[in-house]
Amino acid sequence: MQKRIFSLLFLGLASLMVGSAFAAELNGVRLWRAPDHTRIVLDLSEINNYKIFPLANPHRVVVDIDNTRLKTDVSKLELSKTPIRNIRSSADKNGRMRLVFDLAQLVKPNSFTLKKDAGHGNRLVIDLHDLQKRKNTIKTASKVQSQRRDVVVVIDAGHGGEDPGAVGDRNLLEKHVVLDISKRLQRLLKKETGFRAELTRTGDYSIQLRKRSEMARDKGADLLVSIHADSFKNRTAHGASVFTLSSNGASSESARWLASRENNADLVGGVELIDKGWMLKKTLIDLTMNASLDVSQNAASQVLDSIGTMADLHKNEVEQAGFLVLKSPDIPSILVETGFISNRKEAGKLSKPAYRQKMAQKIFLGIKNYFQQSPPDGTYLAWRKRTAPVIAEHVIKRGDTLSEIAIRYRVSIALLKKFNRINGNNIHVGQRLRIPLS
Ligand SMILES: [Zn+2]
Repeated sequence: MQKRIFSLLFLGLASLMVGSAFAAELNGVRLWRAPDHTRIVLDLSEINNYKIFPLANPHRVVVDIDNTRLKTDVSKLELSKTPIRNIRSSADKNGRMRLVFDLAQLVKPNSFTLKKDAGHGNRLVIDLHDLQKRKNTIKTASKVQSQRRDVVVVIDAGHGGEDPGAVGDRNLLEKHVVLDISKRLQRLLKKETGFRAELTRTGDYSIQLRKRSEMARDKGADLLVSIHADSFKNRTAHGASVFTLSSNGASSESARWLASRENNADLVGGVELIDKGWMLKKTLIDLTMNASLDVSQNAASQVLDSIGTMADLHKNEVEQAGFLVLKSPDIPSILVETGFISNRKEAGKLSKPAYRQKMAQKIFLGIKNYFQQSPPDGTYLAWRKRTAPVIAEHVIKRGDTLSEIAIRYRVSIALLKKFNRINGNNIHVGQRLRIPLS
């Protein structure tokens, strides 16, 4: 009898506590605009039962979360460029919180939750997908095969939005550093005859890892270059690295650690990690993969050599790891870690625009060298290589100058420069000059 009274008392107490002291709190709302959707992240102390549904006339999306209190100001969020016009909130007497997103257009809401991890607390992520038709002009353009098409390089700035990537000294965020370097690299490639450069992300939003290689495929990429900046628990770790995909997974302990951390970004992206078609097509994929791994490996070593002329290298050879973004079977893919932002000195360098420009320039030269040497069929570069009367190829060594090379091969400096598209007197170690018949 006494026992029963006790447990009744206990039950009463417990339900009282659920009703009050244990109410979850909404501590923050964050927002990112991607080209085809708007991502809303609710930072919650606990994730209780929730419901999300769209309503029409006027268009809005309603988010109801049980037993949760609003502890943040939702009125100050930056909504420009999003379809959201206004955010309202209310609470009912049962402790249910309601957020209403007033919308300018119809969207398709999609949601998932993320549990507390090293960087964030519990999150409810809501994606509002645009329902307007997406423009796909680029895809059509890449299908048009011309005899002298451009080499297409797709540049992928790692992380973005909800996923900051590595956090460096003085709160330097990898996502910002790598987007800037990527944009600089794009500008350099765009200026170069025979190249077209596209970005996977153009702003501060996250893209699922598999989606990044899908985008590269859609854009007809000859090479996918994913740009990152490293961090490591040991803050003395430093130097740039270039990775290609290893067929046997990560090749070293540190590479494995890195790969798993980078791949975690997909948990942030949250959805559709498993592509069922993947296993079925494996045999075919393996065949294609070997070919693209070859290209990746050669392009990667050119990029590594080029970066090595300006920055410390983490290792003197191209490394292999199982980065998900590299796992596209048909697209040669490389991943450049531009340095360790967990290292004070390198974070300092990577925070400076001039250094980022130099880094972009070296990556650019590596890519350019590779494609000038091994242009894909049907490209302008392949045509130029075929038709130009080349009498020799000279690999620049330390101490070489243009004038010495010109004298040695009895060719004018002007022609040498024009033929190799050299501006100024800028040559670098490892660069291959094609020597024209003069
Ligand atoms: Zn990264």
